[in-house]
Amino acid sequence: MSTVRVRFAPSPTGPLHIGGLRTALFNYLYAKKHNGTFVLRIEDTDQNRFVEGAEEYIKESLEWCKIPYDEGPGKEGNFGPYKQSERKHLYKEYVNQLIEKGMAYYAFDTTESLDTLRKEYEAEKKTFIYNWENRGKLDNSISLTKEATQAKLDAGEKYVVRFKIPTGESLEMFDEVRGKVVINTDLLDDKVLYKSDGMPTYHLANIVDDHLMEITHVIRGEEWLPSLALHTLLYRAFEWEAPKFAHLSLILKPVGKGKLSKRDGDKMGFPVFPLEWKDPKTGDVSTGYREEGFYPETVVNFLSLLGWNSGTEQEIFSLEELTQIFDLSKVNKSGAKFDPEKNKWFQQQYLQQRDTNLISKEFKNLLSYKGIETSLPIETIVESLKERAVFVDDLWNLGKFFFEAPTTYDTKASKKAWKDGTSDLMNELVDVITSIDDFSSANVTLIIKEWITSKEIGFGKIMMPLRLALVGSLMGPDVYEIAALLGKEATIFRVKNAIANLS
Ligand code: GLU
Repeated sequence: MSTVRVRFAPSPTGPLHIGGLRTALFNYLYAKKHNGTFVLRIEDTDQNRFVEGAEEYIKESLEWCKIPYDEGPGKEGNFGPYKQSERKHLYKEYVNQLIEKGMAYYAFDTTESLDTLRKEYEAEKKTFIYNWENRGKLDNSISLTKEATQAKLDAGEKYVVRFKIPTGESLEMFDEVRGKVVINTDLLDDKVLYKSDGMPTYHLANIVDDHLMEITHVIRGEEWLPSLALHTLLYRAFEWEAPKFAHLSLILKPVGKGKLSKRDGDKMGFPVFPLEWKDPKTGDVSTGYREEGFYPETVVNFLSLLGWNSGTEQEIFSLEELTQIFDLSKVNKSGAKFDPEKNKWFQQQYLQQRDTNLISKEFKNLLSYKGIETSLPIETIVESLKERAVFVDDLWNLGKFFFEAPTTYDTKASKKAWKDGTSDLMNELVDVITSIDDFSSANVTLIIKEWITSKEIGFGKIMMPLRLALVGSLMGPDVYEIAALLGKEATIFRVKNAIANLS
């Protein structure tokens, strides 16, 4: 096992968005490429945003995509627990270290007093930042004497601990995707690290845990790039070696500008979640890729190409292949447009290359869900319909006539296919069919074709009404094959039915 250790660190605040799933996937791929370890860490320090069921949803999504984590909740390794709420006791010690070094400080300012300040600044068209410019004037252990600070702490006054951003520095950092990033530390604010309720903020918990869990590469969404400076300074303050960072660019809306949102999906009719999600508060249900009939292989494939490319023209990649060729250096700096139509194309490719036996099993499940019992050869039916299908569900729409004899006939098709004299021809056809012993598709084709030729009439005069009789419309695969699959009895039954209905 190599030393590469990456983590996916979602907050359980709702269903996992497709962008979050891509972050998980890239972490997984990077870990597997380097024989490393993929850790799942649940960042649930913000109890106000906790959503029931979200953690389970995240785990199930990873499982469905077949990108399991090696360590995490329920898969305890040497670095657990893997839920921050269960690591609560750990963080105080670290925040104290920073206070002792003079790199963090207690701040007693109330929310109200800070709000007032913010408003005063706004009135002067300025922005209030809790930083080097202001910290000396505010209610904190920098402006107060040691004794006054201690008195407040002893009296149980509420406080937060803020990080004291070093001033006047041009901080150079390196991002694996973007290269060198430089930030003037004077522009940063003294972020809160810890609160007197005993909970760390995201920033502190994230750094401490990445360090304790020996994370070597932090691969996460671009929205965390603004935190990179603070995180780099925190590593330095703790005198810890920082992991390498890679910030993945945004997944963009299919049309227009900006980040892909649930609203885009609702508007254009595509899911933005891997699995169906039922909001525990409102009861609203959002559909998922799984429920829409996508294969996990499809989802993994299209996600892998959102912001990464192999450098070749190849578009179809198995998970296995991806774990061999994935490379952070080929992750794009610019955002990746989400293309729901292209995602369907991927699904179609996966359905076409899927083993017919597997699709047949899935189709049989669908049939039994619809309460249909059949002795028809499903594999052959699937084989005949598959090329026009994108989802297993499509097989039903394309081939329900196999299981249900038509009771109505498409009007336009009837006009076109059923003319004067057709009923007589169909009656004759019934006799021909009755005489066929070997009802294989090849033989049915041969005998009917011979008969049509001997009658010296156009093929359409027979094939169209026959199709209409068997299908109810003029769609479907080869008409002789349909007849052969239905069998002699059912074919005769349907032709007679059509004669009765359309004469
Ligand atoms: N908990 C953060 C999130 O929800 C994790 C950010 C990170 O990976 O550092 O996205």
